[in-house]
Amino acid sequence: MALKLADYKTEVHNDWCPGCGDFGILNAIQMALADMQVPKHRATVFSGIGCSGKTPHYIKTYGIHTLHGRVLPFAQGAKLANPDLEVLAVGGDGDGLGIGAGHFVSAGRRNVDMAYLIFNNAVYGLTKGQAAPTLKLGMKTKSLPQPNVNNSVNPIALALVSGFTFLARGYAYDVRHLKDMIRKAVEHKGLAFVDVLQPCPTYNDINTKEWFQGSDNIDPETKKAMPRVYKLDSIGYDGIVRDPSEAPAKMAAALEKAAEWGDKIPLGIFYQNEHIPTYQERITSRIPNYVENPPARQQIATDDGTTVTNIERLLEEHRVDR
Ligand code: SF4
Repeated sequence: MALKLADYKTEVHNDWCPGCGDFGILNAIQMALADMQVPKHRATVFSGIGCSGKTPHYIKTYGIHTLHGRVLPFAQGAKLANPDLEVLAVGGDGDGLGIGAGHFVSAGRRNVDMAYLIFNNAVYGLTKGQAAPTLKLGMKTKSLPQPNVNNSVNPIALALVSGFTFLARGYAYDVRHLKDMIRKAVEHKGLAFVDVLQPCPTYNDINTKEWFQGSDNIDPETKKAMPRVYKLDSIGYDGIVRDPSEAPAKMAAALEKAAEWGDKIPLGIFYQNEHIPTYQERITSRIPNYVENPPARQQIATDDGTTVTNIERLLEEHRVDR
């Protein structure tokens, strides 16, 4: 029987603030899973710590709420142990680009076949709105006693130079477009990153829904709102690498678009390159039976329940330093 959107929803009480962009992201994830008809036992959502960390509680698949900044090691480990899983990691920009920044860069170098979504609201919402790594220099949101003294991290640019092979940006209140970005990220062969612009109405009083959608930015002549967010598709931008020789030019174009912020903020696919081998492909050259016999398919107990797990043998079989 076909899976419906409702099949991916849980009864767990949701305590995000009213109007939070997280609701749109949650819907988009559930819509993408339903679109792809991912069986619930084959999907796993991992989260770090923060408001976004509650996401797995609200999605009826396997889910693990991990440690601050450590979502990527958990998620990569699960995918490597069980390549049949669709693995989705989620977290805030503070979680992934602050304490988790080292894991972010290391994950890019590996290119494990999974997807990572950052809920980017530029503040640490769960702990009362401190400046997070994507808050621009000089901005003063309502919780800050002084304007932000640090420069900001550019998540798309950092992901690109770290080696992520799919880079996209979505917007939490454009749920259908975000669903498409998530679906493409999950279907991508390699490590995919989606930067999701997520207004935090409680603590970020600058990058609000009105700011992104331009209702505070009225054209004096037409009297119409001038949205800041726009789709890369609408200007004919194409970030897909169809031949490896195109990669340098497409990377340069993606970096240029990643730097765009302010009156115009691009959404869509900045860059996609499926010509880079995934980590699974790389280790298969050293462990030839990895795909047929990954750790998750190995017998751990006999029929009568006697354990036959041998960690030493497992570690020896899956060594990649040889
Ligand atoms: Fe959403 Fe901000 Fe409330 Fe957290 S603090 S739930 S990010 S509105």
